[in-house]
Amino acid sequence: SANIFNSVTPSQLDVWIEQAIELSKQGTLPQYIPQLALAQPECLAIALSNISNINGSTTTRGAIEQVFPLMSVIKPLVLLFLLETVGAALVFNQVGMEASAKPFNDLPNLAVQKPPNPMVNSGAIALAGMLPGENSAVCYQNLCNWLNQVAGTKLFLDQAMLASVRSRPNQRNRLIADQLEQYGDLESASKALDTYNQVCCLAGTVQDVARLGLVLAGANAAIDRQNSQTVTAIMTTCGMYEASGSFAVQVGLPSKSGVSGVLLAVIPQQGAIACYSPPLDKIGNSIAGVFLVQQISQALQLSIFG
Ligand code: GLU
Repeated sequence: SANIFNSVTPSQLDVWIEQAIELSKQGTLPQYIPQLALAQPECLAIALSNISNINGSTTTRGAIEQVFPLMSVIKPLVLLFLLETVGAALVFNQVGMEASAKPFNDLPNLAVQKPPNPMVNSGAIALAGMLPGENSAVCYQNLCNWLNQVAGTKLFLDQAMLASVRSRPNQRNRLIADQLEQYGDLESASKALDTYNQVCCLAGTVQDVARLGLVLAGANAAIDRQNSQTVTAIMTTCGMYEASGSFAVQVGLPSKSGVSGVLLAVIPQQGAIACYSPPLDKIGNSIAGVFLVQQISQALQLSIFG
């Protein structure tokens, strides 16, 4: 099939990247994970991958060797893995599939409700607790191995980032895990939280992220199409924190962002766009990433609602 990105000229892409770097100067780096506060604000990388070229040419720009932690971009992949291994019935017994207007680290009243969806921390911690393995190291390794196999990535655990995350115990995430144990089906709050922290610190390059996106786009025939469709539907409604609604209107692509400045946008059945640029807007999305994905989607009319 034709390369959907063909009509973006190289010079057009370079102009957008210049504009994106300029805009990103208004952003801030997250301070609650010390290692993320040390990121290079002007470092930017982008990969545009076509589904027909899963092992072939991808358009890239910028710091494509740069490795960064996936943070919340791992959440849709945790969901996909569990849908494939334990199935939708068990997964959605533990978490909902409804958008939440609350910030990603909100602590819902778990005595009376399930976590709203798998893209916020409460839902992701509940799902981290469902990953198979006798301890958290085995749990994250199982997910990492599976992703590297189905996506052809080289994800690995960023130990320095994990140490940095652990250096500032996250009280909010701890409360979420404790309440999931108290009121939900979570067996061990500590194990789930530890697994969650480790999967958030799985790291790779922008091309690795684009490869993960291709799997969500449907590139791997071994993945049940219903499952990738479930994940991309939830990304569309919940993937960009509290900006998910406006992002759906302006961009119209299933997407997920993470506090490290990564942004993954999926073009179902066609391709994926992955960006990395650390400065974040007030909601926590990469300023340059949002700008670039919006320019590309609008220019190429990629919106799934088009
Ligand atoms: N590890 C981060 C946290 O739980 C991930 C947040 C994110 O990327 O949205 O705070």
